[in-house]
Amino acid sequence: MKIFLSQYAGFCSGVERAFDMVMNLDMEKVKKPVFILGALVHNDDVNRRIKEKGIAEIGLKELRNSLFGEIGTLIITAHGDGPEIFALAKEKGMNVIDTTCPKVIKVQRLAKAFSERGMRVVLAGDKNHKETLGIDSWGGKKSLIVSSPEDFSRLVFSPQEKIAVLSQTTQDKIFFEKICRKIKKNNPSAIIENTICLTSRNRQKEVKKLAKKNDAVVVIGSPHSANSKRLFEIARRINKKTFFVENVNQIEKKWFEGIDAVGVIAGASTPEWIIKEILEKIKKM
Ligand code: SF4
Repeated sequence: MKIFLSQYAGFCSGVERAFDMVMNLDMEKVKKPVFILGALVHNDDVNRRIKEKGIAEIGLKELRNSLFGEIGTLIITAHGDGPEIFALAKEKGMNVIDTTCPKVIKVQRLAKAFSERGMRVVLAGDKNHKETLGIDSWGGKKSLIVSSPEDFSRLVFSPQEKIAVLSQTTQDKIFFEKICRKIKKNNPSAIIENTICLTSRNRQKEVKKLAKKNDAVVVIGSPHSANSKRLFEIARRINKKTFFVENVNQIEKKWFEGIDAVGVIAGASTPEWIIKEILEKIKKM
């Protein structure tokens, strides 16, 4: 059986940058205790390493309830957070280490700028995803977030309304374009900003090729990772023998019976060591 590993498997530049920033932190010099607001990435292995370094995870509620000076340093994850979090950290005397991916910052700034111009921001994104909520916060929490076909059916605006369309960086390109077509029909002057990041676009293109050219596809990623789930959904539409795994223990021998070629791709938050382990196991099959 031939195994084709995608050139885009594993950490994207934004996750790599965030991971390096955290792992290279000099714990002797930083103001302690150090907390991270939510998981750095959707990967248990990565988050365990961060914990071992002495950085604990904290939720929004605990952060809000913390007393002045109780938290020394707060790390913001690659998905970003809203301006109210930065204000809260300042108010409570915390130092902030911001690992927000620059590509996410760009979308946050666009949402802010469009909203301040009085425009209606339509955001193609997963409703409860941290990145989407952060972008919406920068836009004054007034964005219309479109996640599902039901949301799509509600996309009706008066022709006078000024609209700007943005996207979560990991959105499905086909879904985003569908939203844009519908809006442009009634509101031809709507501003469209395709803010799906390059790495997400490349991975989406690549997973389609893998699904067409191979008998089966294995997508590696966490079930909580938006970009990994997206890759799985895209591949599954083309190739029914698409499997989604988070770690090596979930690989099943029967998936590869009677198969000549398998394509392997991983989400942006999957570390290289997990990909290697999975490849080794598939090779043995
Ligand atoms: S998927 Fe794109 S936007 Fe998200 S962290 Fe990676 S490079 Fe940045």
